[in-house]
Amino acid sequence: MSRSAFPHRWRRLPAATAAGVALLLLAGPATAGTAAPPNGEQETPIVLERSADEQADVVEVLVDGTAQLDELVATGVDLDHDVTHTDQGIVVHAVVTPTEVAALKRMGYRVGAVLHDAADSAQRITERDATIAAHQAENQAYTATLARNATASDVKIIRADYYTSGSNQVLSVEAKWAQGQTSTSTLTVARDSGPGTEIGSGGTQAISRFVDAGVYLYHRGAATVTARPQRIQITSPTGDVAVAEVKEWLPIPADSPEGPGYQKDFVTSYLTPTELYDRIKRLAAEYPQLAEVVELPYKTNGYRRKAQVVLGTANTNRVAVDSLAWGHEGGNDISVELADPGAADRPLAVTVTGKAIRVSLATNADGAVTSTAAQVAAALTAEAGALVKAYTYRGDAGAGVVAPAASTPLSDNLKAPAGVSRDPQPVYAIRIGKYRDGSRTGVLAYAQEHAREWVPPLVSIETAERLLRNHATDENTKQLLRTLDIWIVPSINPDGGHYSFYDYASQRRNMTNHCPAGGATDALARNSWGVDNNRNYTEYSLFDGYSGASASCTSDTYAGPSELSEPENRNVDWLAQRPNMKFSMNLHSSGNYFMWSPGAYATPGRISAPRPTLADESFFWGASSRILTAIKRHRNMAVTPARTGPISDVLYSAAGNSGDMLWYKYGIYAWNFEVGTSFQPTWDEAHQETMEFSNGLVELLRVARDFDKDKKRPTSTLSVEPSPTEGMVSVRFDVSEPAAVFYTLDGGRPTFGSTLYASAGIREGGETLTVPAGTKVHWFSVDAAGNIERNYRPDDDSKTFNRGWATLPTG
Ligand SMILES: [Zn+2]
Repeated sequence: MSRSAFPHRWRRLPAATAAGVALLLLAGPATAGTAAPPNGEQETPIVLERSADEQADVVEVLVDGTAQLDELVATGVDLDHDVTHTDQGIVVHAVVTPTEVAALKRMGYRVGAVLHDAADSAQRITERDATIAAHQAENQAYTATLARNATASDVKIIRADYYTSGSNQVLSVEAKWAQGQTSTSTLTVARDSGPGTEIGSGGTQAISRFVDAGVYLYHRGAATVTARPQRIQITSPTGDVAVAEVKEWLPIPADSPEGPGYQKDFVTSYLTPTELYDRIKRLAAEYPQLAEVVELPYKTNGYRRKAQVVLGTANTNRVAVDSLAWGHEGGNDISVELADPGAADRPLAVTVTGKAIRVSLATNADGAVTSTAAQVAAALTAEAGALVKAYTYRGDAGAGVVAPAASTPLSDNLKAPAGVSRDPQPVYAIRIGKYRDGSRTGVLAYAQEHAREWVPPLVSIETAERLLRNHATDENTKQLLRTLDIWIVPSINPDGGHYSFYDYASQRRNMTNHCPAGGATDALARNSWGVDNNRNYTEYSLFDGYSGASASCTSDTYAGPSELSEPENRNVDWLAQRPNMKFSMNLHSSGNYFMWSPGAYATPGRISAPRPTLADESFFWGASSRILTAIKRHRNMAVTPARTGPISDVLYSAAGNSGDMLWYKYGIYAWNFEVGTSFQPTWDEAHQETMEFSNGLVELLRVARDFDKDKKRPTSTLSVEPSPTEGMVSVRFDVSEPAAVFYTLDGGRPTFGSTLYASAGIREGGETLTVPAGTKVHWFSVDAAGNIERNYRPDDDSKTFNRGWATLPTG
């Protein structure tokens, strides 16, 4: 199917034209890397900085609320994807070194338990080596019903979801209260205990306000229950009442989409990027009719560094020395000695013998050394400039007298075995499908934008294996490969991935050092470099004034020097440009989230990137509930309703993320997994997560296949109800599947330029229009695959649109 067949006319509004963007640009991006203390006291800004020889831990940080969370994000601190709202505040997981923990505490943050430390990572490596040796289409009608029932009440139940997770039974409720912005009251939910029982007989639970960036969104909360409730009731503090039916979230149908003999379970250990690429090359060689390996157009900057050393102990007397050659190309052979000549009145002198550099320091009449760091750096650059450049520490004047130092080798500090290439690294995708000519609907799955997330690449490999190894025997799989053009990139960021496996387990970003001269360019900053590949894209980015990315070259959310500055990101952009690309999954860990756009907002004001239309949001929810049900099949682990939805609704703002680029720039239905519970879980857990999220990824392929086969036209109806306002009526449209409705109220022909029926609000169903009784309503609906109701052709003189009157049914 070609892109032109998609109904982008009604979906693709020009991006970044929202008035809020211009407003925010005036405010400018937050200064990253520094922050005022959260209590507001004025102090010297504290800089978050890690030293090179310490590993990072995953620790809990407790913040009062979302305002303080935004401040924490603005420090550039490295947060993983876990954000838990508790009665005491919000608990987030930060990936920080002891030095950074100390800085956070000085800023006034409360730091809690250590959840994962370097020893855990080391243990995973050991384990791995040992192993090697050995969300809601079905709910749409329900939401619509509730919205109608609740129009007269100041409280409205948005969702009431019952589900099992492990052996727990859970009821999750979301409701909007008209006073939620100003009143801090919780809401009390009363449950029945099953069909025909009294409200309240199943107990009660409180749900609390969800406020983000100062804006009230809704109340939410989950509680364990002992029986599946049929109905709930909320009585608001003003005495208004709302009642809703409880829906089952992710019920597992009895029939399995996997036929008898379906093969799975193909991964036996964590895999490095080199191993991931070897694996897809072997697979493609084994199935040449069905798959090929494609080298993406942009090589990374490479798992390589200049050889470096910092001599000295204090900022004033430190001399930093960098090789001109890469470490593996001779830089690592260079050494520097700062020698005390042991005699009075000697001049500063530099001699170079092969790659050994000897600095004879100047002395005074008493024989004491007098050379300063600035003098030594200048002499080194002047006399040994063919081998190295030398500089004082991070812009310091370097007036301190240096300490003599024995001959010290420079090093790139890279510990991967020689089998890991130090050259710019080609990034590989495996392309799977019987017809790989662009004629089939494209689906993209890509993993490891974030280097330390070791499970998502395995999900991609497991999925590729399932597709190829079941093709010969499983009719469903055969159909997927016949109808789809599947691109799987197991590691987008191989340099960072290798660095995470061999050098610094907590590495999140790529390895490219963009810090300017005079900044953190020296060896001691080597674990602080890199661009966050999931903040370097083009839509709603830091450069557009959006929140949740940093301009600091040492921040773990560093957006890079400009949009798409990084080869890793240009590769994703290249893939997304393919005209047949229609669906994508960006695989991350952790937190068991399942998300889509919008993924960013601007502060203050929480000005969001545009929300999807009601039709698209319905499609996202419907497809999501299929995908999450497939995940749950593996071991009854439920991704919760509270962790399903737009990124900026359920997590935090992430300016310049890839999902937003794919959705806003290319119109691709783009989802994001946050797999599992930690970056590098024990192998048993990693294995389980791989199996369950591969179920989900295969289900996405089935969603894409069904979309491709969808030739069914939607149908829609007009419903009219009394309005509290005299002479007016309340009007709503109901559709048979996720579909957009265009309407006119002036008797004109409806076209794609007519008014688009909208959502009533975040996580709600369709709006209620209030119109004069007797208004003539003309409309048509169009589904996500472009099928138009009753074969109406809005662009010519076709007359098969729907006609109705906004009048109450008589009788
Ligand atoms: Zn991630």
